[in-house]
Amino acid sequence: MKSLQQIAAELSGYDPKALPVDQALAFLAQLVEPLCEVEELELAHSCDRILAEDLISPLDVPPHDNSAMDGYAFSGAALGGETLALHVTGTALAGKAWTGQVDPGQCVRIMTGAIMPKGLDTVIPQEMVTFDPAESTIRFPSNSLQPGDNRRLRGEDLRCGSIALQRGQRLGPARLGLAASLGVERLKVYRRPRVACLSTGDEITAAGQALREGAVYDSNRYSLIGLLQRLDCEVIDLGLIPDHPPSLRAAFEAAAEQADVVISSGGVSVGEADHTRALLDEMADMVFWRVAMRPGRPLAAGRIARKNKPRPTLVFGLPGNPVAVMVTFLALVRPTLLQLMGCSDAPPPLLRARSLSNLRKKPGRTEYQRGWVSANANGGLEVSVAGNQGSGVLSSMAQANGLIVLPHEGGSVQIGDPVEVMMFEGYL
Ligand code: AMP
Ligand code: MG
Repeated sequence: MKSLQQIAAELSGYDPKALPVDQALAFLAQLVEPLCEVEELELAHSCDRILAEDLISPLDVPPHDNSAMDGYAFSGAALGGETLALHVTGTALAGKAWTGQVDPGQCVRIMTGAIMPKGLDTVIPQEMVTFDPAESTIRFPSNSLQPGDNRRLRGEDLRCGSIALQRGQRLGPARLGLAASLGVERLKVYRRPRVACLSTGDEITAAGQALREGAVYDSNRYSLIGLLQRLDCEVIDLGLIPDHPPSLRAAFEAAAEQADVVISSGGVSVGEADHTRALLDEMADMVFWRVAMRPGRPLAAGRIARKNKPRPTLVFGLPGNPVAVMVTFLALVRPTLLQLMGCSDAPPPLLRARSLSNLRKKPGRTEYQRGWVSANANGGLEVSVAGNQGSGVLSSMAQANGLIVLPHEGGSVQIGDPVEVMMFEGYL
């Protein structure tokens, strides 16, 4: 395992006092060793988990050529004239193979999913024919379809022996359905990471308590718990810790014993009561950064090793301001956790939208502004700034549906300029 000093030495131009977001991400990527413990779960309990081995299809899906419509199956070789008239000789239902003989000039009534009768390759949907009950005959214009239409081919979804799902993919509903379509009952998945979180600060007050003068209620722990639950992490709530070094130490010790990751908020800047910083410096292998981002400048990252534990606990000391907590989580902690979880899915792409606002921005840091993305009358995307952008103002975060990401090198944005947005859907 590389030391933090080694990782830092390998990043060219590493400057902990003005660290670009992409360098912080590159650093964090080297701090992580993915969890490799595997557990086997029933499909119905596997949603959002990360697949721990490739899933190979044990069969062709679908297992037979079958009809995609309710209609009539016939041989496509008969197409070509003007109107085609076919005598209905029987019915093929889903789940029951129809084994009768079909002669030229005949067809078989067929239901969606039923196996195509031998020798037949085309299905005309029932709403496209006129049926003559007296003669048990259908008629339809021959040019209304091509041979092979409305037939699903054996193995067109998946071939036996092919990779249906890849190790590292997150199991969303479509992937669970796909696994189920193979008759799979259980899947091997990585265990969920155990993530401890805690809030710090003498002025921070637990819900249900009276608010003293100068105090505020603890919001960070709840935003963090929500973010962690969205990622399907196992949350260990270590509560609210006062600015009291022995209590802080006990909390981080507890986290180091039980958790893969501990996330704290507050106490990492250079104020008088910022004890988290001093304490982490003493008890863990840490780096303290001023990340070139806004909001969220002060941030600590590192790890606590314990003799009896095979892997160290990753530590994130996030800033205290409520919006900074969420933004640093989305920008830096989330990708790190996904790597720890063994997830190999590409992150959702940023959207491009036209800015409806002038945005003041200094080159040399990444800025995140809360925004509201909507479609204009022409279907183009546009984004307006959602409310007060102060780093403690959660109401604008709650109004927003995405974060406008203004890149490190860029300057101010004029109305009408394109900007990139990290949408909350899928994140928050
Ligand atoms: P700090 O980094 O500890 O100086 O905190 C920065 C600001 O964030 C201060 O105004 C704190 O009151 C506020 N803050 C810190 N932790 C929390 C929390 N858990 N919930 C709400 N606000 C917080
Ligand atoms: Mg504080």
